[in-house]
Formats: sequence, C-alpha cells, structure tokens
Amino acid sequence: MTHTDISRRNFVMTTSAAALLSATAPFLCAHAAPAADGSQTKKRRWFDTHIHVSDVGRDGKKRAKMLDELLDVLDRCDADLRFAVCPDAGYVSAMRTDPAAMLTANRMVYELCRRAPGRLHGCCMVNPNFTDEALRVMKICFGEWGFVQLGEMLTYIHNYKMADAATEKVVRAAVTYDVPVHVHVGTYWHKKAGSSGDGMNQLADLMLIAERVPEAKYILAHAIGCGPTPDFISWADMILDTIKGVYPAYPRNFWIEIRDFQCAALARTLREVPVDRLLSGTDWTTRIGPPFQNYGTMFDMKEGANPFPPEVASFVGFLRKAGASEADIDRIGYQNARELYKLPA
Ligand SMILES: [Zn+2]
Repeated sequence: MTHTDISRRNFVMTTSAAALLSATAPFLCAHAAPAADGSQTKKRRWFDTHIHVSDVGRDGKKRAKMLDELLDVLDRCDADLRFAVCPDAGYVSAMRTDPAAMLTANRMVYELCRRAPGRLHGCCMVNPNFTDEALRVMKICFGEWGFVQLGEMLTYIHNYKMADAATEKVVRAAVTYDVPVHVHVGTYWHKKAGSSGDGMNQLADLMLIAERVPEAKYILAHAIGCGPTPDFISWADMILDTIKGVYPAYPRNFWIEIRDFQCAALARTLREVPVDRLLSGTDWTTRIGPPFQNYGTMFDMKEGANPFPPEVASFVGFLRKAGASEADIDRIGYQNARELYKLPA
C-alpha cells in the first residue's frame, strides 16, 4: 500500500491519460475465449500476494455484494487468479487508535475468504503497538481461520518500526504459525510520496528485525516497481544494490515482490534474485468501483490510464522480455506463493 499520491491522481486527471481513459476503457481480459470446438481454453494460474480490500466504499456505504464483485474480477481475468487479501482504507486507519479495529478488519477479510475457498486467502493485518490484542487476533486468524500471511505491515501508517520490541513479539508469533511476514518497503521516491515512499529506511528497519529473527520469512512488499510516470524514481536498483552489498549471498528468508512488471529493474531482478524467491503482488485495491477495475490495473490508477493493457498477459510479456523462461513465469506468478503458503498443488 502506498499512501495517497495527490500528484499521481493529478496526472491521471489532467493529462492525455484522460483521453486514454475514454478511448480504451474498459479493457477486456479476452484471452480465455472459448476455443473453436467450444471448450474453454485453460487459463494460466496466477497468485497475487498483495491485494487490499474493503467492503465499505469511498462514499462510506457498505458494499452489499462485495464478494460477488470481487469474484467477478477473478472470473473475467485472462488468468486463473487467486488473491491473498488484507484490509484497506477505513479498516486500516481505524487500527491506528483502536485495538478492537484489528479484529473487525480481519473478520471482514475472513468473511470473504471463507466463502471463496481456494480463491481468496486471508492476510492478518495488525498494529503491534497494541501488542496483546495483536497476538490475540493472530491466534484467531492463523489458529482458527487459516490465514496464510501476516501483513501488510504498514509501519508508516500505524507508527511503529519492524525492529521495535513489540513488533519482534508479533514476528516471533508469525514464526510459530509458520506464515510469512509481508512488510511495506517503499517502492519509489516521489516529492509527494511522504513516509510511504521512505523505502531505504524501511529496508534498513526490515534488515534489523531479520538479523534478530532470521527464522522468519520476510516478503519485501512492492520492492520492484516504478510507478506510472517518470516522476516516480524507483527504489528497485537501490534495494537490489543494498541486498547485494550487505549480504555475502542472497538471504533465503527474503522474498521479493514484483509490483510494476514494466519496471526497468525487472531484468536485473531476474538475474540477481533466486527465481524461487520472487512473488507477484500488485497492491491492487478495491478503491474504485464496484464494478471493480480489471486486475492488472496499477495501484490507485484509473483503468483507462493504465500504461499497458490490464491483464496477466501483460505481466507475462514483461517477464518474457526481461528473460524469464516459461518455468520461471510459473514460479513467479503462481508456484512460489503456493509453496510459501503451503497450499496443495
Ligand atoms: Zn505497501
């Protein structure tokens, strides 16, 4: 999750993107068209590790058909999609001050996941400042509800550090449940990105907790990305430089999440990060709609302004161009997440 980028919204609203919006919306995920014999073409499996959802719209109204609207995104996509989902919007901000908001938010996620087994998987978001309640909520999420991931850890919103003593307790609990810890690492510098974009300090903080709790599995959320315009200065190379400079070998407890597949650093990422340590997580949100925008639309972007057709075929194309083999694409797009979450083949 990247906090409100006013300038990007302005870009979307005020430039030729507006023209694009009318000319190209809606993109259709048309790759699953029936074959000539009437049989359905088999879709590529794709697992997204980073999806924010809310069953309350921006207008404050409850979305009565939230699950149907969300599953419609999966159904109309060109891939056989599965999502790891965590809370968004008001559910996230309420956790700043109200410990009870953690259970409320995670229960909203659970209510979606339990009705879509095998398609939606829960991620437990907590604010470690409320340590006792965070640990209690984790016990419910992982012990009873079958959630697959802790996070996204939104240090910059909930005002904590990964290396804080309270957060260490939460991370150690994740180890006991054998779930990965999904940590926000700012994707890019932008003059108005604020604390969300403070990627290098967030990486340093993550490295400190990883030193103390090396047995945890860490996902560097949206580590590889670029943003929609050249105004966004990508951290991807700095993140890769830092990992290379700090560790004698690639740290096997780090999973790197690719968010913006058109990122220039994608080819380097494929060369330097073991292919079994790469994940696809687009930070896709339910902020616009319903109907929700097609999967493949960049974070917080209007679909018509997306710099490429919003579909998994685009991600696959970028991966191929960056040198990924078909086996690599299957790992990055699906198998690595499935294994990390210990889901059946
Ligand atoms: Zn984030």
